[in-house]
Amino acid sequence: MPDSQIAIAFNQLRKSYGPLEVLKGLSGEIYSGQVVAIIGPSGCGKSTLLRCFNRLETINGGTLTVNGMDLSNPNLSRKQLQRLRAQVGMVFQQFNLFPHLTVLENLTLAPQKVLGKPKNDSRELASHFLSKVGLVAKGNSYPDQLSGGQKQRVAIARALCMSPDIILFDEPTSALDPELVGEVLDVMKQLAEEGMTMAIVTHEMQFARDVADRVIFLNQGLIEEDGKAYDVITNPQSDRLKSFLSRMQ
Ligand code: ADP
Ligand code: MG
Repeated sequence: MPDSQIAIAFNQLRKSYGPLEVLKGLSGEIYSGQVVAIIGPSGCGKSTLLRCFNRLETINGGTLTVNGMDLSNPNLSRKQLQRLRAQVGMVFQQFNLFPHLTVLENLTLAPQKVLGKPKNDSRELASHFLSKVGLVAKGNSYPDQLSGGQKQRVAIARALCMSPDIILFDEPTSALDPELVGEVLDVMKQLAEEGMTMAIVTHEMQFARDVADRVIFLNQGLIEEDGKAYDVITNPQSDRLKSFLSRMQ
């Protein structure tokens, strides 16, 4: 595929925290419109990799290009960082909504402050995405008046209000009661069908198999398997992935 269709490219990517080397030379690429699930045991570096993609962490070695921006460069300007974060949305396990702001205010804050959108435009955008995640009636509620599933859907709507090119999800359903997982996965599935570029750290193997295009299995800071989602999940090659999947059931 031509370079313009590559959303994220990384080559020999390394990341350490002090003496602890977490990512030990990862290479791969995520194409525009692709949905990639990142799976692997706790502590293997999944969150770290995702955080490198929007520069919440700075890489220590190798190369990383996200949406055409060279993140190997340790000295990005504030403006460049702001542009990157606008283009690359992130949804966290713990939602990270602003508790003192209403749902609507959570959604309109960044479009107004970062993108300079007028109040009316940002409100319209917020209503549009709130209805997309099925929460149009909750605009004036505060986060603590919502269920976990509703909070996460608000967090996804908030990411969408920035018109991102890529959305990163870090275990978006891990903090939810089991009966609320489905409503969040449904919203993500719809985004995937609409062609959003998504990198999703998840323990939902069925979702990874059925909704992702590709699955990357990380183990001890290295990519151990990378392939078509259905193949990786249903026909694992390495003993480590076999044993990981058997523990996930
Ligand atoms: P995962 O998301 O796969 O569970 P993480 O990327 O969160 O793994 O963490 C990988 C390793 O890096 C773990 O050993 C973790 O303790 C360590 N780690 C993560 N963040 C930091 C940090 N800010 N400082 C030091 N060590 C960290
Ligand atoms: Mg993690």
